[in-house]
Amino acid sequence: MTETAIYLDYAASAPLRPEAREAMLSFLDGRWGNPSSIHRFGREARAALEDARARLARVIGASPAEIVFTRAGTEADDLAILGRARMVPGAPVAVSAIEHKAVLASAHAAEAEGAPLVLLPVDGDGVVRMDAVDAALERKLAVVSVMWANNETGALQPVAEIAARCRAAGAVFHSDAVQALGKVPVRVDEVPADLVAFSAHKLGGPKGIGALFVRRGTQLRPLLFGGGQERGLRPGTEDVAGAAGFAAAAEAAEAVREAEMARIAALRDRLEEGLRARVPGLAVNAAGAPRLPTVSNVSVPGADPEALLVSLDLQGIAVSSGSACASGAVEPSHVLTAMEIPAALAGPSVRFSLGWGTTDAEIDRVLDVFPAIAERVRSTNG
Ligand code: PLP
Repeated sequence: MTETAIYLDYAASAPLRPEAREAMLSFLDGRWGNPSSIHRFGREARAALEDARARLARVIGASPAEIVFTRAGTEADDLAILGRARMVPGAPVAVSAIEHKAVLASAHAAEAEGAPLVLLPVDGDGVVRMDAVDAALERKLAVVSVMWANNETGALQPVAEIAARCRAAGAVFHSDAVQALGKVPVRVDEVPADLVAFSAHKLGGPKGIGALFVRRGTQLRPLLFGGGQERGLRPGTEDVAGAAGFAAAAEAAEAVREAEMARIAALRDRLEEGLRARVPGLAVNAAGAPRLPTVSNVSVPGADPEALLVSLDLQGIAVSSGSACASGAVEPSHVLTAMEIPAALAGPSVRFSLGWGTTDAEIDRVLDVFPAIAERVRSTNG
């Protein structure tokens, strides 16, 4: 594999932060105890796990008892959706049409188990429609799920408002904040969400660990059965090193968030202005929505999306087409389709996602090479 020189796919996975690596090392090289053991090795592991829980809780304004460590963001979403659907059998599940597959697929699984599925539509900028939320809330729902920020377009959703309306209607509200944590404030002491999902590797922690915030009093059925760890909601011996790395990454991201995001937003704006000026017909998707500073999703009409990605890769520039999890699929993304972007524009779309390592020089390089590549893959597609 050729070395990738310019990584603009932070939303797919971010490099491990040094703080996370440092926090994990002592558990990988030693300190192997099981947190459930009562001897000193176990107590040491338990203390480290509870320390990680308390630190992650502090970052989001929760109390430690409200944090359930899970295996990845996907499992946190599954636990929220299916765990609620199984708690209230037969009650409908309402999720936005632009959710990540982790939510959408578990909503479909809940549907197969008898929970009617309500898909909440979005507007042309990829923001969920509040009238649809209100209409859904007229029924007694098992759960409402609207993500904090969309992974493909970066569009921020009005979660504070939706959470408040769900609270008023007596409905449990879940938000997938996998892409939001570390980039925008995610505070459960300010937003009355009941369930919020996180994943460590999107903010510089290790892959394979996530967390679900479960507000005190929110009732959920577990999806796994075993030794009763994580208050029975996620049994299985805990990943102590992963939890330590997750907490360290979340703290590190939060400590520099405001300054870093201002810097990255400026880079993102320069990227978009430059591309618009240089590539005829290029459209920035969700441009009218409040967005994560780190994500830019552009459509290049007439271009073959795969050829675009491969040509960029050959120039050492790593980006995604639509959602990384859907790479390999040729049909346009369900997110852009839900925004009613025509297939001719939704198909040839590219997602740039920036992060703490992104530099001015990297954006200059993209602006240098992208227009010619776009031109070439357009003509070969014609
Ligand atoms: N939710 C969103 C919005 C995501 O972007 C992702 C990852 O792409 C996930 C959930 C799944 O997280 P994980 O990769 O930790 O399973």
